[in-house]
Amino acid sequence: MGATASAQEMSCDDFASKLSQALSPDFAVEFHSRLSQEPQIFIDPALATHLASRYSEAMPHPPRKSAPRVSGITSLDVSHAGETYQINLRRMASARRFTLRVRAATQDVVLTMPTRGSLNEAKSFANRHAAWIGAKLRQLPEKIPLKPGGFVPLRGTLHLITHCPAKRRGVWLEYAASSGGSTPLLCVNAEAPFVPRRVRDFLIKEALRDIKAAVESHTAKLGVAPCKITLRDTISRWGSCSSSGSLSFSWRLIMAPHFVLDYLAAHEAAHLLHMNHSTKFWATVARLTVDTARAESWLKSNGSSLLRFGQD
Ligand SMILES: [Zn+2]
Repeated sequence: MGATASAQEMSCDDFASKLSQALSPDFAVEFHSRLSQEPQIFIDPALATHLASRYSEAMPHPPRKSAPRVSGITSLDVSHAGETYQINLRRMASARRFTLRVRAATQDVVLTMPTRGSLNEAKSFANRHAAWIGAKLRQLPEKIPLKPGGFVPLRGTLHLITHCPAKRRGVWLEYAASSGGSTPLLCVNAEAPFVPRRVRDFLIKEALRDIKAAVESHTAKLGVAPCKITLRDTISRWGSCSSSGSLSFSWRLIMAPHFVLDYLAAHEAAHLLHMNHSTKFWATVARLTVDTARAESWLKSNGSSLLRFGQD
């Protein structure tokens, strides 16, 4: 097992360093109407928290009177220098001012406003900062299509997407011995326009296989019944456990090193016994994996980058 662990470590480092060369860090920007007109740049704390370590469980929480409520989402357009930008509006009871945020993960613009805030004021606020919005959208890290010649991480290792129309059908992996190089190949035999879709389908299929195996291994140790597993393409959580015992995961976990996927499977499996984050819950997780801190740290550093692959 030593060799396996070592290989995972190398894959993880490899993945992180290559990504850091290719990608700028995920960021979001916001500023407030009461503050100076100079925008300030923050690491988006909400995004970091959700993706890194909270996992935003879909658990039944009793409604709190003070909890923020989104009473509706609409959008408006603002234009600047020949470009038109869509601004998503979020009315929140807890908002005390207008806030603009350009989100890297979803590559969109959100204007948060008080529930009773004036739509005209919101539009005026967005218009005043249209140039800033355009500048920040242009600075966002680009999405990475799953097309031939591009790279996609699989189990923590970057693979080169290779169009192989003359070879056997389907999607398959080729490693150094057969590809003649050190970079593993993800080969696709499909008509060119369908390659991105085939790659995505392949990754989802692999994700389901790995996640199912990991969950079954953990539920067997806990002595709980296997449960329904659903894969989704979520942006705010990597996994969740419903009160009926269904587990849901982001298929993008297949891009991360295996210890990250395995930790998420352990985390959600432990929720089948404890629908909370109590001391007992974390003790159960610790019975299943020793990688909690390492996996959370990895997701905090690299998780948002996974959202950029294969987005149209
Ligand atoms: Zn949890």
